[in-house]
Amino acid sequence: MCDECNHRAEINPLRAFDCKNPQCAEIMEGAPRITDHLCDDCREHYETVKRYLTASGLSFVEDTRLVRGLDYYTRTVFEVQVDNGMGSQNAIGGGGRYDKLAKEVGGRDVPGLGFALGYERCVLALEAAGVEFPNASTLDLFVACVDDSVRERAFSLVQECRDAGIATEMDHQQRSLKSQFKLADKLHAAQVAILGPDEVAQGCVKLRNMETHEEQMVAFDELIKVLCQ
Ligand SMILES: [Zn+2]
Ligand SMILES: [Zn+2]
Repeated sequence: MCDECNHRAEINPLRAFDCKNPQCAEIMEGAPRITDHLCDDCREHYETVKRYLTASGLSFVEDTRLVRGLDYYTRTVFEVQVDNGMGSQNAIGGGGRYDKLAKEVGGRDVPGLGFALGYERCVLALEAAGVEFPNASTLDLFVACVDDSVRERAFSLVQECRDAGIATEMDHQQRSLKSQFKLADKLHAAQVAILGPDEVAQGCVKLRNMETHEEQMVAFDELIKVLCQ
């Protein structure tokens, strides 16, 4: 077998089922299958898992060669696949059980279970299933800079608003004021706070409601209160 498989034979021999080396694959064809060699406890556990899945109406395929890329799993590992519309790229995630991990890394002796989902694959699967996506969460406020001199003040204003729970963005690419408004539109900002040297000198922003186009001057220390109304 390849060096990697020989090395892993000590740590996690099951990983050899995953080796892309043709010679290893050939050897593993004749390798014993884990399901034929479970101890009584593991056998019972495995049967219970399958019973629960069936009782929950989840269809599953037993894959005696399934291996995950991490060595801490115990007993159950799984992959989640979608049936339709994804072709061969139909695995959207996977995970398993790790009964010894917490203790091994110095924690309490508690069992664990987890999985990772592929974000893009999930989006593709949802699209293939015809799921309609809700609008991306809208932006409460976009802080637009009239010129570069006010960027620093704008930046701290954005942080203050975010700290107050107001979803706030600003431009970070030196866009023109016009382009900043385009961006604010694209992000569905409810309000735009326009900040120029005059406003900074007066300690206020010009706040524009993007729906009604109404504008009002709002002092910095009133802004959060006004936005939260
Ligand atoms: Zn190998
Ligand atoms: Zn066992």
